[in-house]
Amino acid sequence: MTAPPAPDRDTESGPFWQGLAQHRLLLQECPACRRRRFPRMPTCPYCGTDGGEEVEPPGTGTVYSWVRVERALTPAAADQVPYCVATVDLDGGGRIHGRLEPPAAARIGMAVTPVYVDHDDWTELRFAGPEGGG
Ligand SMILES: [Zn+2]
Repeated sequence: MTAPPAPDRDTESGPFWQGLAQHRLLLQECPACRRRRFPRMPTCPYCGTDGGEEVEPPGTGTVYSWVRVERALTPAAADQVPYCVATVDLDGGGRIHGRLEPPAAARIGMAVTPVYVDHDDWTELRFAGPEGGG
C-alpha cells in the first residue's frame, strides 16, 4: 500500500501530530465555553477566547458525514481507491476528519472507534466502523 503524503506539521499542529505518534488523540478545549475544536488554533472560533486546554477524548464518535473516493486524485493513490473520508462527531465534543474503514460500511450516525496507522514518519488517525478496520 502506498502511504498517503505526510502532513505539514507546524508549531500550532505539532502537539496533535505528536499525540497521534503515541496513539493518543489530543484536542483543544476552550477554557471559557468548553467547546472542543479541530484543527488546532490559538483562539476559540466560537467565542473568541485566547488559548486552549489539552484534552484527550477516547476518540470514539459517530459519523456526521462521509464521502467515498472512487477515482484516485494522483497516480500515487491509485492502489488506495476506493476509500472513504468521514467527518466524525467525537464523544465529548469536537468534530474531526479521517478515513473510515471499511469504506463500504459508511453510514451517517454509525458508531466508530479510532485506528492509529503508523507510516514511516507520521501517524494517521483513521476510524473503524462496527465491522472493524483493515
Ligand atoms: Zn470558546
